[in-house]
Amino acid sequence: MPSTNPKSTPAPRPGTPLTVLVDAEFARDLTVLMRTGMGAAQAVGEAVNIVAGAYANAWQTGRIPAGVAPKIVGFDIAPPSTARNESPCAAQGCKRSVTQPVRGRPRRYCSPACRVRAHRSRKVTER
Ligand SMILES: [Zn+2]
Repeated sequence: MPSTNPKSTPAPRPGTPLTVLVDAEFARDLTVLMRTGMGAAQAVGEAVNIVAGAYANAWQTGRIPAGVAPKIVGFDIAPPSTARNESPCAAQGCKRSVTQPVRGRPRRYCSPACRVRAHRSRKVTER
């Protein structure tokens, strides 16, 4: 990304260790991010990635002149993935997925029809 800001300095090269003084506000912010299980370095990388994406977008779209820091006034959060709340239907030959309830016993079948079909096929094989 070419910069028009004459005060800009080159970024450290990949693999270069970076030392940052942690003040009280930085420590609080790191505490929030690290509650997700990330380490401090990963949290810093994640935060820099988000801000850099906002800057790059502001410059690419021409909303802010390149090299000028935009004021970030908001951001979006994607809804949590539903993938972990789904599992494949246990009925033989069924390709549908089962949406698991938030509470209670996990569901094995996608529908009453699949549950009954699986029960009938078990009864046949048990004889
Ligand atoms: Zn099914």
